Amino acid sequence: MAEELNPFKIAQEQLDKAAEIMGLDKQAHAILREPRRTLIVNLPVKMRDGHTETFTGFRVQYNDARGPAKGGIRFHPAETIDTVKALSAWMTWKCSLADIPLGGGKGGVICDPKKFNETELENLARAYMRAIASFVGPDKDIPAPDVYTTPQIMAWMLDEYTRVVGHNDFGTITGKPVEVWGSEGRMDSTALGGMFVMREAAKSLKMNLKKSTVAVQGFGNAGKFAYTLSKKMFGSKVVAISDSEGGVYDPDGLDLQKLEEAKAETGSVKNYKSKNAKAITNEKLLELDVDVLIPAAIENQIRKDNADDIKAKLILELANGPITPDATDILFEKRAMDLPDFLVNSGGVIGSYFEWVQNISGYYWDTNKFHTELDKIITKSFRDTVATQKAYAAKKVKINERMAAYVIAVDRVAKAMKARGWY
Ligand code: NAD
Repeated sequence: MAEELNPFKIAQEQLDKAAEIMGLDKQAHAILREPRRTLIVNLPVKMRDGHTETFTGFRVQYNDARGPAKGGIRFHPAETIDTVKALSAWMTWKCSLADIPLGGGKGGVICDPKKFNETELENLARAYMRAIASFVGPDKDIPAPDVYTTPQIMAWMLDEYTRVVGHNDFGTITGKPVEVWGSEGRMDSTALGGMFVMREAAKSLKMNLKKSTVAVQGFGNAGKFAYTLSKKMFGSKVVAISDSEGGVYDPDGLDLQKLEEAKAETGSVKNYKSKNAKAITNEKLLELDVDVLIPAAIENQIRKDNADDIKAKLILELANGPITPDATDILFEKRAMDLPDFLVNSGGVIGSYFEWVQNISGYYWDTNKFHTELDKIITKSFRDTVATQKAYAAKKVKINERMAAYVIAVDRVAKAMKARGWY
């Protein structure tokens, strides 16, 4: 991995910048540059032909000064320890910006889940949980789904955890199916949170979302719900969407049923057919002349080599780390509003927080309450971010939205560490 695209170097660089802007105490800065705990596990898994294959897994607890670590688990062939470290740092800032009582963590296994049958997937999920069981728990570290992991995988992991510890503890893992006390509303909470941010950002940009065009990169949990909700909530026209194979552009707007059919029948949305639709690459999708661009797939998609070609006025980072620091600076110069991942996609962890709260209290909410509480928390995060940016501007210091969010988040974690006597 090129050093400049190493996500952990990027996360450290972002922290360094925030530390400089806010005059962060040097001792606090040193603690926050590295994860508190890193676990690397070796996972023997029985495969369908009877042989045992060995996979490498990670779990990182970046910081737990404000509460137990919280963060998803990814099953991905390109997973690295540095990706997991970066994501766990971003989880720390995400929970802090949302002002919820959780720290940051992340996990991952290097594997290609597309090649597994269901039994192999279950065997791997159970092997991973067995290996990290003593490291996690409702008061220590609470995992959740992420790229290529599902509620079913969370249910297997929960079950394995109960076998290890000998009792039920539903607050150990979130993003579970509702049958095992997952939360109503959690499934689309990442995208829904992103939509509440989109609504607030559009207000501040005086953008009419009903007349706006949207392009979404990614057709997974985050991307697909961003597509459906932006149409349903605002009446926006989604003109492009993609998956790992490529994308489709239709100036007349896209139809969900046809997208689902193209995906199911051919394996990719790029084969979507309609009168004016044409296949486009993931690179071209990012450069479309749309009002709102939603990267909702993987990291490092907008870099210094293509940032100048981005035309959207509002960029909502629903994926984690889709924009490199150089590219953020270029977008800021172009006066595009680029709202950072740990604000835009925090609906996922806020939803997980609600699930955990319900699990540990044993009292369950309806979807309505879930949505109202999510709106309240994420709207406040957006407003805090914009207010901080304005407060710096009043002192003649120009900072982008990411740095404004960082300053708020880092300050809260540093204050918690100080109060606990860590420095
Ligand atoms: P997912 O596995 O459901 O979907 C991932 C999507 O990205 C798929 O459509 C896949 O085809 C596409 N993709 C993979 N490689 C690609 C490539 N090289 N180019 C373009 N597209 C590619 O995952 P998800 O849960 O939707 O997560 C997407 C992003 O959102 C990730 O960065 C994740 O960390 C972030 N996120 C997700 C949640 C959540 O609750 N699901 C919460 C917070 C952040």
